[in-house]
Amino acid sequence: MQKTGGIQKMITTIKGGNAIYQLPIGNEIVAMNELVGQQITLKFNGKIVCSNCGVVTRKSYSQGFCYLCCQDLARCDLCIIKPETCHHHFGTCREPQWGLDNCFTPHIIYLANSSDVKVGITRKINTPSRWIDQGAVSYLPILKVDTRLKSGQIEMALKDFVADKTNWRKMLKNEIEYVDLISVRDKLLLKIQAHINKLNAIKLDNNVLTIRYPVIQYPYKIFSHNFDKNTNITGILQGIKGQYLLLDSGVFNVRKFSSYNITLTY
Ligand SMILES: [Zn+2]
Repeated sequence: MQKTGGIQKMITTIKGGNAIYQLPIGNEIVAMNELVGQQITLKFNGKIVCSNCGVVTRKSYSQGFCYLCCQDLARCDLCIIKPETCHHHFGTCREPQWGLDNCFTPHIIYLANSSDVKVGITRKINTPSRWIDQGAVSYLPILKVDTRLKSGQIEMALKDFVADKTNWRKMLKNEIEYVDLISVRDKLLLKIQAHINKLNAIKLDNNVLTIRYPVIQYPYKIFSHNFDKNTNITGILQGIKGQYLLLDSGVFNVRKFSSYNITLTY
């Protein structure tokens, strides 16, 4: 089979604790779990189309946008990565209405374990895609606040005690330190009680959820495929974790190459 079109980051859902991956390519969706164990080829056709305005761009910015959209869109602003720097109240939001719709809504602070425990924030509590995208093997929502800014402030307070980044190499190699997220939560919340009170954060009483990934063989060493250097990637698909395809020839970060026009052969 052969599919050609622009790719976007894989759609991730969970079924019976298993991560399910679908790759959008052009107007089609490819069920990726079914390809694990098979030889696949990904060929970059030399064209990148901005996923916002549709112009052809020589380079991809912010994972799939042209330069101008990357400069204009609020979702490409630094405050999305660092929510504690939200500047909406100064009147400088790039898209004030988008900001109201997306950042002035309830946000969740969670703990996730993808290699070690980390803290993160998300808008959506009911879709596990956030945690699958990070390759978390378990996660636990711990607090709820009413704006993105407050979630960033809580995250900053927690940063003194727990990581806020995934070690993606360890995640891909499945080098995980298993910890009891409930007891980590209980200890952390005690340390930031003053912030919880000040920001009116609500404590959540969730259970730890676990995620299994479709992987036959984890890589021992990480080699990253890069379409900007090599346009033809082939290998046996040994698994999928986070937004990565784990080929026996190296790993491919699908999200990084969003908006690239490719041909997938399987
Ligand atoms: Zn654009």
